[in-house]
Amino acid sequence: MSDFQMTIAGELVGGDNAIDVTNPATGQAFAQAPDASRAQLDRAMDAAAEAYKTWRLDEGKRREALGACAAAMQAAAPEIGRILTQEQGKPLADGIGEVMGGAAWFGLTAGLPLESEVLQDDEEKRIELHRKPLGVVGGITPWNFPIILAVWKIAPALLAGNTMVLKPSPFTPLSSLKMGEVLQSALPPGVFSVVSGGDELGKWICEHPTVRKISFTGSVATGKKIQETAAPDLKRVTLELGGNDPAIVLGDVDPKKVAEKVFEAAFANTGQVCVAVKRLYVDEKIYPTVLSEVAELAKGAKVGNGLDEGVKYGPINNWPQFERVRELVQDAKDAGAKVHAGGDVMDGDGYFFQPTVVSDIAEGTRLVDEEQFGPALPVMPFSDLDDVLERANGTHFGLGGSIWTSDLERGMDLAKQLECGTGWVNQHLNLVPNAPFGGSKWSGIGYENGRWGLAAFTELQVINAAKD
Ligand code: NAD
Repeated sequence: MSDFQMTIAGELVGGDNAIDVTNPATGQAFAQAPDASRAQLDRAMDAAAEAYKTWRLDEGKRREALGACAAAMQAAAPEIGRILTQEQGKPLADGIGEVMGGAAWFGLTAGLPLESEVLQDDEEKRIELHRKPLGVVGGITPWNFPIILAVWKIAPALLAGNTMVLKPSPFTPLSSLKMGEVLQSALPPGVFSVVSGGDELGKWICEHPTVRKISFTGSVATGKKIQETAAPDLKRVTLELGGNDPAIVLGDVDPKKVAEKVFEAAFANTGQVCVAVKRLYVDEKIYPTVLSEVAELAKGAKVGNGLDEGVKYGPINNWPQFERVRELVQDAKDAGAKVHAGGDVMDGDGYFFQPTVVSDIAEGTRLVDEEQFGPALPVMPFSDLDDVLERANGTHFGLGGSIWTSDLERGMDLAKQLECGTGWVNQHLNLVPNAPFGGSKWSGIGYENGRWGLAAFTELQVINAAKD
């Protein structure tokens, strides 16, 4: 019997089996989540299909319901935030902040327009263009920001008139299960269900004949599998996948100030951010200063259990990821990289890895070429701008990238040369509700957020009426 329950057809439901959920700060299982059976998934899908029949009809009611979701999330933020910290590892303030962010996102989404257009209206014809919902959406989320990434899907999907079955990561199912429970007060039964289980459950969702769209956030490897699984039924997919974001620091900046900002953009959430700075390129003129400043910040970073006061960086979320970061850092060391801070696991229980900064490393080494998704940053000098842009773009990834310079116009021009979904200037990580978010190349298909994210949960219908 698990400690948390799924929400299916508006009811709280346990599983016949359960999965252990580990607190990464202790390395110990601290709670269980239900492991949904196929029959339970079918029930969630049937309820979503049934609820869709009426949910799709009244836009005003949907907007009101999203407002109620915002209020319910806000009220439950301390409780859900604490669960999030225990299962994910992030500091408590960040856990609560993520839930509050989700509440705010519900509120903002409630006000987005669902636009219809008149394309022609004359003696002959009236032609209108409408945005219609797709039906039942399967939402599949990763373990780094389980709440906010789910809300980026739930809020626009529901506003557009779809219903949704959400499956969180098996590493962090509890906060989403609690969110599912909390949101039932704001939504009719079946409109939003949360089921938990392993990767196999995700596959069942992608195969399920009731589902018309998959909205997925996670790794490139899983994204490719999902597209393949969804293809025979021509399910729509939005894939928000991994990144290997470059930050390029030009020689005209204040190196100390930029080092602080870049450090935060690389190590926030212990480096487990899809759009974290994952490769740092610095003009050789200021390279030694930036390198030593970033290394000093890494040495001084307060790492620990997210529930402890003053902790800024938590553990790596799970054992496989912890092992992966260890392996990539070891591989860099073996290839001759110089470690300026960290470089190893930390003593004690839990999946703690020292914030790590390495130099004497280049493309061709795994820590540079692959997405490390953890607290280890390669810092590399450059002397030629064209060359560094080529290095920055020489990857299958294309999520984000940044240019750091005191010349804003030049920075914006250079940012346009980055092959990625978001090019930042003098900042990184900054995601806003009024711009689309998505990746180029292997970093994704489609967009989330703003009117573009809402459009992704709709399809166009033309109504073409002859007047005579
Ligand atoms: P993952 O791909 O391993 O898992 C993500 C989700 O997919 C989990 O819920 C998992 O159970 C499910 N899943 C696994 N196999 C499946 C299958 N065959 N069919 C259907 N579902 C399946 O990713 P992760 O390790 O949880 O997350 C880390 C990755 O997510 C990183 O690459 C990171 O960059 C990426 N990410 C991207 C964004 C973005 O918006 N672009 C945001 C956050 C994280």
